[in-house]
Amino acid sequence: MNTQTTDPLAGFDLGPVLNWLTTNRDRVAEKLNWLARADGMMGIEITGQKHLQLSPEEIVETIDMFPHESHLRSELKRINGMPPTWFARGTTVENILVTDDTSEALTPTAIIPGYTAVDKWTDVHKVLTINLYTIPGVDPLIAKYMLVHALIHEYTHTLLMPMLYNGNEPYILEAPGKVQYQNAALLQLFGLEAAKHPPISHYAAAYRPFPDDLADVQFIRRASEEFCESVAAYMMGYIYCDDPERCWNPLVDRPLVKLFIENFLHGKRMT
Ligand SMILES: [Zn+2]
Repeated sequence: MNTQTTDPLAGFDLGPVLNWLTTNRDRVAEKLNWLARADGMMGIEITGQKHLQLSPEEIVETIDMFPHESHLRSELKRINGMPPTWFARGTTVENILVTDDTSEALTPTAIIPGYTAVDKWTDVHKVLTINLYTIPGVDPLIAKYMLVHALIHEYTHTLLMPMLYNGNEPYILEAPGKVQYQNAALLQLFGLEAAKHPPISHYAAAYRPFPDDLADVQFIRRASEEFCESVAAYMMGYIYCDDPERCWNPLVDRPLVKLFIENFLHGKRMT
């Protein structure tokens, strides 16, 4: 079943996702049982703690779900808690507007859970911060589940960005089996494959369709969002989408998408 919504901005409304998490909290808790483990801090600074609905240990455990080969490629330096923020009225897919005033929000639940900010991006210094925003108006446990999703999504951006935005230099990723991808190639192949399927998630639906031209900046941007959502689905074992069955086995219909994700996560940077 794939009942594509008619409102192209519906994906920016977090309300249905939070409702679904609330309805399915026990099943989600089982999927995220690794949240309870604790480990070191991996050299990532945590600021804005008072706004964070994840503990430092839960942040570390979530990032620890990524394989070591991924950690070596991330440019993440800081995770920062921020007060509630919404997609503002006037937002389009090409031009995202944000507000901290709920009366200016696209909808009362058009809540932004996370955002990756570029603090510095030169050939030698790349500094990224993941902002995680307080999710207002829900049980703290539901906010926690939503932020785990957001953190996996944003951490994936911190891995994609060095690969996609490497100036004029080649960025070569060698996947298991010695398959090599240069610069945006892996994301472009992923996008072509993902486009054969319904959007992976409620949020990803806001970024469909992809342009036909693989080199179009909108193709890269839209496919990146689908990619980050697909990695979250892969790691969590669930994701909210418009097919109630596929929510619990999100990659079941797309084995090649899963292969691109595994190649990406376990890839080693060669240049
Ligand atoms: Zn994103």
